[in-house]
Amino acid sequence: MPTFRTVIEPFRIHSVEPIHMTTPEHRLAALDRAGFNLFKIDAQDVLIDLLTDSGTGAMSRDQWAALQHGDESYAGSPSYYIFRDAVRNLFPFEHVIPTHQGRAAERILFSVLGGPGKVVPNNTHFDTTRANVEYTGATAVDLVIDEGRDPQADHPFKGNMNVEALRALLLERGDDVPVVFMTITNNSGGGQPVSLANLRAVKAVCDEFGKLFFLDACRFAENAWFIREREEGQHDRDVVDIVRDIASLADGMTMSAKKDPMGNIGGWLAMNDDDLAAACRELLILTEGFPTYGGLAGRDLEALAQGLKEVVDHDYLNYRIRSTAYVGEALKQIGIPVLSPIGGHAVYIDARALLPHIDPLHYPGQALAVALYEMGGVRTCEIGTVMFGQQSDGTEVAAPLDLVRLAIPRRTYTQSQMDYVVEVCELVAATSEQLKGFRIAEAPARLRHFTAKFERVI
Ligand SMILES: *Cc1c(COP(=O)(O)O)cnc(C)c1O
Repeated sequence: MPTFRTVIEPFRIHSVEPIHMTTPEHRLAALDRAGFNLFKIDAQDVLIDLLTDSGTGAMSRDQWAALQHGDESYAGSPSYYIFRDAVRNLFPFEHVIPTHQGRAAERILFSVLGGPGKVVPNNTHFDTTRANVEYTGATAVDLVIDEGRDPQADHPFKGNMNVEALRALLLERGDDVPVVFMTITNNSGGGQPVSLANLRAVKAVCDEFGKLFFLDACRFAENAWFIREREEGQHDRDVVDIVRDIASLADGMTMSAKKDPMGNIGGWLAMNDDDLAAACRELLILTEGFPTYGGLAGRDLEALAQGLKEVVDHDYLNYRIRSTAYVGEALKQIGIPVLSPIGGHAVYIDARALLPHIDPLHYPGQALAVALYEMGGVRTCEIGTVMFGQQSDGTEVAAPLDLVRLAIPRRTYTQSQMDYVVEVCELVAATSEQLKGFRIAEAPARLRHFTAKFERVI
């Protein structure tokens, strides 16, 4: 078979959404109104929106068709069974409990398993996962391998758990650990994958200590593709089989269907344990809904069932991972420091390295994200001192890294749109010495990045 350099989008466009062209003047006015907070910019004023890959992907023709099959019966809808079976085809857990999104699954699970004095280890907790663990009074501990904390370290599976550290924690605090979690891919660590070997090693330690093992599986298909590409002996396998292997190691999962299941909304909680499932369903009914819909419309369940079939397609995954790497490699080539290797769903620019003249407490990530928007209308997300610097006692410290995340929505933007993004980055990098930092003019006591107002430091 001939091989080509260009990996094409394995779809063609069937329905289009207009992008509203704007000028730098227009965008500067929008920034002013938003207090330089990109979360407060109207989507209409954005050209290319790389704020998140969560719920922002394009559904397929077959997903839109599946919506028409939605049965909105309150109880026992056939749409629930179609959804449940699609989940079980990949993750054969006994109990599949739909929720309106991932954090609802987290809240329910940790309400049952968490509590004061408990400790939950994870490779790296996603922010809502950590918040839901801590909200119950429990402690969230991140045990990713050392390479996973180093933005430049080259390792094929930077999302791996430090298994020795996990053993040590279980030896010391075993009685307090209700469940061990693994996030695949490791979102907060840069969308980095976890190897099958590491999942097996973690499972063995969980067995040794008699602990439940759960997956935060939001990007399971991207993770399985990395396993197929990078792990010895996996190259000829079907991704579906790799996913089932991963599932077979776990006792349950939490899931945001806004990621790999290609939904605009949705999530689920799944597990084998009957008593745990009964306790979770009780809470589900309290705030999410009856167990056969859990806060979702029947049509959403149908669209997710179809999305789960599409996301494990090899042509899709090859395109997905390569098109993300394409952006990262183009940025590297023009000398922009990026977190490497490139993850599955996003490219992360090291803003602190690009803007060494801006003190971390003047938010180099914010400065870069604002400049990308102002100059090119590209919306990205600061992942650094704005997001993590605020301490509970009101003080502020620099985050370990100041990154800007370019999250790539699934099947949404074309290669020329990504080429444009790279060009905008190039222009901003060329004038980076002139960029100024920011100070916070107004902020709430918690999760300030969503609503804070900023002023430029002159
Ligand atoms: C998005 C995400 C969640 C939370 O899911 P929501 O649907 O946004 O509530 C949890 N864990 C990871 C790894 C995620 O990426």
